[in-house]
Amino acid sequence: MDNCIFCKIVNGEIGSNTVYEDDNFKAIMDISPSAMGHVIILAKNHAEDIFEMTEEDLSKALIVARKVARAVKAATGCDGINILQNNGVAAGQTVFHYHIHVVPRFDNDTVKIKWEALSVEMDDISVMAEKIREHI
Ligand code: 5GP
Ligand code: ZN
Repeated sequence: MDNCIFCKIVNGEIGSNTVYEDDNFKAIMDISPSAMGHVIILAKNHAEDIFEMTEEDLSKALIVARKVARAVKAATGCDGINILQNNGVAAGQTVFHYHIHVVPRFDNDTVKIKWEALSVEMDDISVMAEKIREHI
């Protein structure tokens, strides 16, 4: 897609520090990492977000994420790994080309990913569950 920075990285127009590549994905070092070793896995076929991904690409994405996560864990010696994927501005997406974040985590590090729990009633959770079931 024209003017998509990740399409340009995928096709080599813009350089990147690539750690893995196959027919469907290119995994590169994030340019503004949340932790040393933060990798992003770009789909080669342009899709804005998870909703535009083909089932075929999506089914392969998590397998690539685990492959990259294993390498990040071995390289950094991290204690844990977050695998994240943002969809939409409200969710923190800033580049509208599907990608998965692989973020190494260390005990007591200062990376901010975990949310604070809402205070909610169990009944309200059940009402919401019913609404979601209606749309599955
Ligand atoms: P999002 O916020 O959309 O989930 O994540 C976008 C990520 O892409 C950010 O973590 C940002 O640092 C990274 N990023 C944006 N532009 C570039 C770039 O040109 N090269 C690389 N390697 N990463 C980028
Ligand atoms: Zn793109």
